[in-house]
Amino acid sequence: MNCGIYSVAKRARISNSFADSDKGEPISGPFSALETHSRAKLKGDIMGKYQPSAKEQAFLDSVQNGKYEREIITGLKKFVDGSVPEDMRSLYSADELAELQALKGTDRDVEARMPVKITRHYFEQVKNSPSLQTLAKASPKETYDLTGAPDPGKQMDFSPIEGLIHKYELGLIYVASTCSSHCRFCYREELIAKKEVERPDGTVAPKGLARVEELIPYILEHNKIVAENGGIHPKTGRERLREILMSGGDPMVLGNKNIAQWLSALAEAGIEQIRIGTKEMAFFPARFDDTFFDMLDKFHETWPGVTLRYMVHFNHPDEFLKKDADGNYIEDPEGGLQWLDVTKKAVSELGKRNWISVDNQAPIIKGINNDPDALRILQRETRRNSIENHYFFCGRDIVGHRAFNVPIEEAWNILNESQKGLSGVEAHARLSITHYKGKTEVVAVTNDAVEGAKNGENGVIIFKNLRSYFDAPNKGKVAIAGRNPNAIWFNDYIDRVVYDELGLFDEYIEAAKREHNVSAAE
Ligand code: SF4
Repeated sequence: MNCGIYSVAKRARISNSFADSDKGEPISGPFSALETHSRAKLKGDIMGKYQPSAKEQAFLDSVQNGKYEREIITGLKKFVDGSVPEDMRSLYSADELAELQALKGTDRDVEARMPVKITRHYFEQVKNSPSLQTLAKASPKETYDLTGAPDPGKQMDFSPIEGLIHKYELGLIYVASTCSSHCRFCYREELIAKKEVERPDGTVAPKGLARVEELIPYILEHNKIVAENGGIHPKTGRERLREILMSGGDPMVLGNKNIAQWLSALAEAGIEQIRIGTKEMAFFPARFDDTFFDMLDKFHETWPGVTLRYMVHFNHPDEFLKKDADGNYIEDPEGGLQWLDVTKKAVSELGKRNWISVDNQAPIIKGINNDPDALRILQRETRRNSIENHYFFCGRDIVGHRAFNVPIEEAWNILNESQKGLSGVEAHARLSITHYKGKTEVVAVTNDAVEGAKNGENGVIIFKNLRSYFDAPNKGKVAIAGRNPNAIWFNDYIDRVVYDELGLFDEYIEAAKREHNVSAAE
């Protein structure tokens, strides 16, 4: 495998992108248009069939795939023609289906924005939960306003090879382009709906998945350069890649053998922590079966130094708690509330393995979990079952986000209310909003005027950067804006910025100026 050509080209071009920036940061992210343009040509040099080592092969030979009956319904068609199982027909009323069908093939086609999909297990929870119905049922409201970013977070600016986002010290890889069920608010609607996304070089193509034979040489090459330069990459300031997040879509839709290929190749390449982002614990917890845990245990026997971090995704306690005939949660005589048996088993099996941690993170979405009481129960019950509460997110600026996003200040208030009465360890979760510059915490929203602060007559909102690309130049930096209770994205604050050492609002202010100049010229 020859990664040399790739790295030389990359370094030269990263260097140029820095030269164009007034703050010493790249204008269009670490991978310039020229470099991305060269990706296809360079691909041949990175490629070459991946050969597992003898150690990997011995592990892979021991893995068995499981057999799963997810009973997935894909698309609205089966609801329209009545071919879904009889008990599932009532999920959509005739009027709802007629309205959705009328949009088919138009610009407002709901299924073209985000495909419809649901498992039998999730349907059983959805049928008794208005909140989960909002999560899983397609609605014409989704396409009333299609404002939004085709590539939220400008991920393509940070994609050195297909399917890898190398933005932080951790790399994110797309390993699947679907999930067992689909959330209507999905942050990855562009990947799942296979939409064409513009790359920094101006070409347009759907986002692709990562491939072992491309990713592993990239990791080895990056880490080699870092090692040769005293632990820091000479151009980006980043440290070695030691953590990879397997994402998508949902990695748990893959078979055990496929997951095992990823785990073993990453471990052999020196990755120390592997995260798996999944909502399968909500959509189909039976996926966490004996064959899966057998694979994990063999993986741990082979690479005992590598830890797994399961990033699960529960939006609402209706996804994992039992209900009585009146729709109330049922107390557990041993404390807390009763969980669905299959979910409880999956969570406790993960918890038995001290080399695996489990964290929950979820967005706060209108009509699903913008409810302090639901979030309080969620945080208490997850922590009681050894799941750490990591982040709650403000909705991203995906296409159609106005149908889902709760105003930022309202989301902060909901989370703050939900944490009243929780213990310190139960209330670890922070509210994060994912800016292009990195994960940003919504730290506080004040209720009273901040005297002397221009635009602070109605109080202020305070943001702090938690994670920043490259060598984390923005980590810890703060931005403050006068309150706007209706704001759902950063551009809603551009007329009331009080203080911005983070440059959080710069691109939105510039965009507004450009728009103003264009309309003035017209
Ligand atoms: S689980 Fe995540 S990736 Fe899958 S549909 Fe839901 S939000 Fe999208």
